[in-house]
Amino acid sequence: MATNTPLDRIVVIGGSIAGLAAAATAAGRAREVLVVERREPPATGSIAPQGHLPHVMLAAGSRVLEQLFAGFAQDLLDRGASSGGADPVRLPCHWVASGSTRTHLQLRDLGFPRALCSRSLVESRLRAATLALPGVRSVHANVEGLALESGRARGAGVTGVRLRGVADPLGADLVIDASGRGSHTERWLPCPPPATEVVVDLRYTAYVVERHAGDLDGAAFAIIQNTRDLPRLGVALPMEGQRWQVVLGGYFGTAAPRDGDGARSFARTLADPVLATLLSRPALEEPAGYSFRSSRRRHWDRLGEHPRNLCVLGDAAASFNPVYGQGMSAALLQAEALGRVLDRAGTGPELAGDLAREVASVVDGPWLIATGADFVYPATRGRRPPGNRLVNRYVDRVTRAAAVDDHSNAALTDVQQLTAPPASLFRPGVLTRTLRHGARPPQRG
Ligand SMILES: Cc1cc2nc3c(=O)[nH]c(=O)nc-3n(C[C@H](O)[C@H](O)[C@H](O)COP(=O)(O)OP(=O)(O)OC[C@H]3O[C@@H](n4cnc5c(N)ncnc54)[C@H](O)[C@@H]3O)c2cc1C
Repeated sequence: MATNTPLDRIVVIGGSIAGLAAAATAAGRAREVLVVERREPPATGSIAPQGHLPHVMLAAGSRVLEQLFAGFAQDLLDRGASSGGADPVRLPCHWVASGSTRTHLQLRDLGFPRALCSRSLVESRLRAATLALPGVRSVHANVEGLALESGRARGAGVTGVRLRGVADPLGADLVIDASGRGSHTERWLPCPPPATEVVVDLRYTAYVVERHAGDLDGAAFAIIQNTRDLPRLGVALPMEGQRWQVVLGGYFGTAAPRDGDGARSFARTLADPVLATLLSRPALEEPAGYSFRSSRRRHWDRLGEHPRNLCVLGDAAASFNPVYGQGMSAALLQAEALGRVLDRAGTGPELAGDLAREVASVVDGPWLIATGADFVYPATRGRRPPGNRLVNRYVDRVTRAAAVDDHSNAALTDVQQLTAPPASLFRPGVLTRTLRHGARPPQRG
């Protein structure tokens, strides 16, 4: 039976997006929340190795941030983020996919301003706001193990964490693992959870260039999506300081060159060459590369006996192909779920199992979107979701319908922004419009 006595201490492993969001959610639900982070937090910017690369925050993630800290988006705007235009429900864009071009996103009005900026800015503001909350404290240390209740018996409760160079464990009523994709938690337990992997071997190259008024015909961002025959993509996202973050990506080991000429040539091979114009400007920072092997999910909800007092979230639970821009928003939605479960289950023995199930249900949607779409390529390796070929053909048609019909646009945008589940694309209204508007466009050339 659930008991709702407040927790004394929660220890969060990792002080990046998921850890900070979990700590902000847990504040006030425990007497003390300790965020244990092995890296020295930068004065500004992201603590994660990938944090300097272009990141997009989806509407669902922005909503959670605003709920945690009212005025969060306005604060980003005050620090130079772009609003992307005055209309709250219409965001101009240049999104080329499935042989069609969407010129705007039909969004929900979430009741707060839109703020488009770098991940560094979002994360540094989240860190400042979270660590200013009463009861939240940051500890600079490396977690190298869990303290377990009764040796390493199956289903043993977690009683805290072991810190490198410290003899006594740091006790906790609840340990939240937000230590990212490289999490070691499963190795510290007698029974690791089953895992699923979908291998895409993606290579990112990122460039920062000046942003001028009138670029991209006024679009707030551009996405040139991959196609089955050309597993490459390009993205331009606005960031503070009147700059564009441009990404060129290739699946299955194809990396775009870092030099200007090479980058422009790569951009011209995409389904739309528009990014080549931006890349003709001098790079404002050294171009950066990143290799992403696979989407990977650990099924903590499928453990027969879940270790008590342990919750795993963020990339530690599931890390998605970054092309779909979901990781931070999914982490924020998981943190929100943590709050719901803490209120419901309190310190009861079912807390950890409940958390694992809630986290899994948040992960299901973005996981299906990312891995489902990646199976458009024959070279993608892993377990294909059931009905995937049919679903991908249908989503292709929804995408084409979204370029010409606002109702379809709103439905697709909702799913892509994680404000509606993927299944909502199969609602009768969307289905009818997809059949009407989503016919194959004329072939080029
Ligand atoms: C190239 C690329 C582009 C991406 N683009 C997007 C995007 O556009 N939009 C989006 O939403 N997401 C994107 N993502 C995904 C996003 O970066 C992650 O989903 C997000 O950072 C996950 O946050 P996290 O807090 O779970 O993990 P991380 O950000 O990886 O942070 C984990 C933290 O835990 C700390 N840590 C690890 N082990 C220990 C330990 N033992 N003791 C103490 N501390 C520890 C680390 O130092 C780190 O600070 C992208 C990812 C990549 C690789």
